[in-house]
Amino acid sequence: MQLSSYEDLRARLLSHAVTCEEVVRFYLERIDAHRDDNIYITVFHERALDRARSLDKKLRDGGRPGKLFGMPLAIKDNIAIKGSNLTCASKILEHYESVYDATSVQRLDQEDAVFLGKTNMDEFAMGSSNENSSFGNVPNPFDKTRVPGGSSGGSAAAVANGLAMVALGSDTGGSVRQPAGFCDIVGMKPTYGRISRYGLVAFASSFDQIGVLARNCDDAALVLGVMAGKDGRDATSSSHVVPDYASEITSVSVEGLKIGVPKEFFPESLNQDVSRMVKGKLAELRDKGAELVDITLPDSAYAIAAYYVLVTAEASANLARFDGARYGYRSKDATDLATMYVSSRTEGFGREVKRRIMLGTYVLSAGYYDTYYKKAQQVRRVFQDRYREALEKVDVIAGPTSPFPPFGIGDKTGNPLEMYLADVFTVPASIVGMPAVSVPLGFDTLNLPVGMHLVCNFFEEGKLLGIAKLVQRFQ
Ligand code: GLN
Repeated sequence: MQLSSYEDLRARLLSHAVTCEEVVRFYLERIDAHRDDNIYITVFHERALDRARSLDKKLRDGGRPGKLFGMPLAIKDNIAIKGSNLTCASKILEHYESVYDATSVQRLDQEDAVFLGKTNMDEFAMGSSNENSSFGNVPNPFDKTRVPGGSSGGSAAAVANGLAMVALGSDTGGSVRQPAGFCDIVGMKPTYGRISRYGLVAFASSFDQIGVLARNCDDAALVLGVMAGKDGRDATSSSHVVPDYASEITSVSVEGLKIGVPKEFFPESLNQDVSRMVKGKLAELRDKGAELVDITLPDSAYAIAAYYVLVTAEASANLARFDGARYGYRSKDATDLATMYVSSRTEGFGREVKRRIMLGTYVLSAGYYDTYYKKAQQVRRVFQDRYREALEKVDVIAGPTSPFPPFGIGDKTGNPLEMYLADVFTVPASIVGMPAVSVPLGFDTLNLPVGMHLVCNFFEEGKLLGIAKLVQRFQ
């Protein structure tokens, strides 16, 4: 079954050329054939088939098909689906089952989507390679010795391998965009507040956003449109009107498009192939009528430092709830309350999560709060001002998604600081809260995927995906 887009699948479903059950069986068989790749933590074999059969019945009975009728979706395992595991790829939540649906899941469900299962990830979404999962690595779909990116590595590999049509990920500093770039697919993180975070397990609440991984921009826009909008259960969700993304996409034209190109995004150290391919694409867009505008974002060097101070601070508070008493894993050896807390957390969390809890606790401590946390907050404000100013002059800011193509499994696990640099180009949009997307540029000289990163102004998701679509079309 060759399925190029949801539009194609929908036409076949509604004309009864194929049934939902056949489509879901097709995907489940592919998932089973790829079992060794560790892409899914949980597969909904029966549940997905039951759902497909009830959708087929609905159509036969003359029911109105929802906007996502029969769309096979994968969900990152830090987003809640009622009655299913919600592990966050952590031992501490290994046997935890969610008692409610995330708002995004509920909205997809209402539009007749089908959930195939929960995907692998870095533990609590902390990482850039999926190597911090307590359920094992995921290989890159194009080179099994390399990583798929992270933290939404399972979601990206699922879409790239055809084990789901679209997947949800979460993006705190790049976790949707960077793995999309590493797996040759589209990955978009909307404006902070565009999608409710209710039911998304918190890592750093002022950064976290649910994002979409898809093969093309139209599918991403469709799913985004269903999930976006105010939710009474998340006070930070925005009541900004949800536009018709499909029509916004088509109204974008390359003619006269102003693309801001910050020189800071092309440092000497940038991988040669990445640099050549991103610059080549920009030149191509210029030849088609876009205007390339040299801009400068002089504070870029501070992005990673500020990000890791702020997100670890928030993570240390958010992860305090996992104490062995309320959720998940409890140490067997504890003899009193204090050792129960300490042993449950010591045994339940992985190394990177513990490192971040310690870092976050440190930067929030009385003696260091002003030096680190307060300073990083000030840097965040400066970034917001700089990006706002830049986007008054240009339509979009462009650069590479990652400074290097997918790296080898194990190459960076010994050096966390080097791993953190994988996010150097994606983190700024998260610091400012603007929407950003990674769009595939094709393959480098080693046959590894390279992505281009685009950032637009707040709530310009339609325009952003329209520009991304232009980039993809000229491939
Ligand atoms: N790789 C980044 C980190 O480890 C981003 C993670 C994310 O976006 N969830 O924090």
